[in-house]
Amino acid sequence: MTTRLKCLIGFYSIILPLQPKVIPNAMCGICQKGKEANKRGRPEALIHCSQCDNSGHPSCLDMSAELVCVIQTYRWQCMECKTCTVCRQPHHEDEMMFCDKCDRGFHTFCVGMDQIPTGLWVCEVCDKDFTTPKKKGVKAQKKSKSAQK
Ligand SMILES: [Zn+2]
Ligand SMILES: [Zn+2]
Ligand SMILES: [Zn+2]
Ligand SMILES: [Zn+2]
Repeated sequence: MTTRLKCLIGFYSIILPLQPKVIPNAMCGICQKGKEANKRGRPEALIHCSQCDNSGHPSCLDMSAELVCVIQTYRWQCMECKTCTVCRQPHHEDEMMFCDKCDRGFHTFCVGMDQIPTGLWVCEVCDKDFTTPKKKGVKAQKKSKSAQK
């Protein structure tokens, strides 16, 4: 019986970090309200930092529904805990930029850039997901060639 329980605990400790963190009675650090109401007075689930007790409404943090889906697939860190995805260091805050698709932090010098880009920026992790398969391009080329003839 006890060995079974131990196995079960070991099993859950492996799975748990991938599960979304659930903190009862958590409060948004921006509007100081719970999941019952956001700054617009509407119910909204809170997101939680994997590193500290900071929580927030995605709307208060200016996060889109898409971004919220993505940050729940990895150990998201709040602005105060954010570290660089490449070197894992939190320093050089003024040279850290954030991916517009996953909110991961990156130092400009860790990805070989001179300065923080002014517009939208997507990290290489997301960029890989969004590049279209090359096979399609090959097919389209063949078609256009036969059309020319
Ligand atoms: Zn809020
Ligand atoms: Zn945090
Ligand atoms: Zn770095
Ligand atoms: Zn990204």
